[in-house]
Amino acid sequence: MVQEERSAGAILFFLDSTVHKIEYLLLNYAAGHWDFPKGNIENGEDELQTTRREIREETGIYDVEFIEGFRNKIEYYYRRNQTLIQKEVIFFLARTSIRQVTLSREHNAYLWLAYEKALDLLTYKNAKNVLVEAKLFLEKNSL
Ligand code: ATP
Repeated sequence: MVQEERSAGAILFFLDSTVHKIEYLLLNYAAGHWDFPKGNIENGEDELQTTRREIREETGIYDVEFIEGFRNKIEYYYRRNQTLIQKEVIFFLARTSIRQVTLSREHNAYLWLAYEKALDLLTYKNAKNVLVEAKLFLEKNSL
């Protein structure tokens, strides 16, 4: 039996107005992997609402400005006990001016990282690809 799961999240970046250096937020999940903030889309929520809520719950950050025009989907399978889960995650791109993070119990650690380091640390290839796309998008839009 295959069960479907849908999550939404963001490549959340911090950009200081004085130092023009973008840093991306990665979270260390309890399962061990490093990924972006994200979580299950709940009934009655749209993707952006989920993303905003998950960022708030997982990092304590309220100040989130979505960068219009970026939406990137990844898909993967994983096993939970005997069940095969087919998962889809939608990623948005969002900016914050808050660097302070308050983690929830779901994660072990967080890091704000420059592009190359974030690319290295991300566990999964499909998440790395999303970061590559996000950076290209920011460059194209002169951000
Ligand atoms: P959510 O943050 O969406 O609530 P979760 O913490 O329940 O998610 P995932 O992050 O999807 O779960 O992790 C579930 C399993 O899938 C873990 O075993 C993890 O290693 C694996 N996994 C996570 N991200 C990916 C990915 N991009 N590609 C392949 N496998 C992944």
